[in-house]
Amino acid sequence: MPELPEVETVRRGLQPFMEGATILAVEQRRPDLRFPFPDRFAERLTGRRIEAVERRAKYLILHLDDGLGLISHLGMSGSYRIEQDDMSETPGDFKHERTKSAVHDHVVLQLGARDGTKRRIIYNDPRRFGFMLFAEPGELNAHPLIKGLGTEPTGNRLDGALLAKLFQNKAAPLKSALLDQRLIAGLGNIYVCEAMWRAELSPLRPAGSIAGENGAATEASERLAAAIRSVIADAIKAGGSSLKDYRQADGELGYFQHSFSVYDREGTPCPRAGCNGTVTRIVQSGRSTFYCPVCQL
Ligand SMILES: [Zn+2]
Repeated sequence: MPELPEVETVRRGLQPFMEGATILAVEQRRPDLRFPFPDRFAERLTGRRIEAVERRAKYLILHLDDGLGLISHLGMSGSYRIEQDDMSETPGDFKHERTKSAVHDHVVLQLGARDGTKRRIIYNDPRRFGFMLFAEPGELNAHPLIKGLGTEPTGNRLDGALLAKLFQNKAAPLKSALLDQRLIAGLGNIYVCEAMWRAELSPLRPAGSIAGENGAATEASERLAAAIRSVIADAIKAGGSSLKDYRQADGELGYFQHSFSVYDREGTPCPRAGCNGTVTRIVQSGRSTFYCPVCQL
């Protein structure tokens, strides 16, 4: 299941080839993925110029020159590949060995770049849990998938002051609050576990305990914000290399080739220097939490 860093890696791979390009033709090879394609899908995209390739949480959004937004999600196994008009894959980092099985190529966008280069952007999805939907002009921020999303965990908006304000008076465990997409958008289980370990904060403590009086920032909230940003930044870096090196033949995604400090490491020694703890797994809200009960307080 791709998480935010993988989606951001895909966005960064697509952006230089898509932004500014015109959609010359669209091949839609089946009526649906997880959801039916929008009415007149190919017709409405054809002839449009792509103004921006954005990501919000785990959604990729193409902004088209008539104001239409194309919201897409990779589901469990979705991926994109880029082919140039000489039929070769584009050189560079952005290639996916797993997408050679053309039977799972569901959408092909023929693009014309401003310099005249023609490319195909091919969406492949063996399990078809991905989807593509339109947001009508001016309605993206009110779209049901988008409007309730909280703050992005990348960039400088997420700081100790914001976290303290979001979490103040919350009795729910810190882990649950961090996974609440209405507060912070797109943080998944893996990155929440890793960020809490980096910040030396227990997943069990009440979320509100990182806030000071009247929701003021604290040393703990600053530490947590910094940990979230650094975990995501490191994962985006690693996401690029794992995509490039991916060589599995069964179509399953092979993200997260990098190693984690606590996630999926139950029973191993805590990697923090000077800590004698053991990584422990507990279940919170039906999902595994990995943490060190000795240094995460
Ligand atoms: Zn520890």
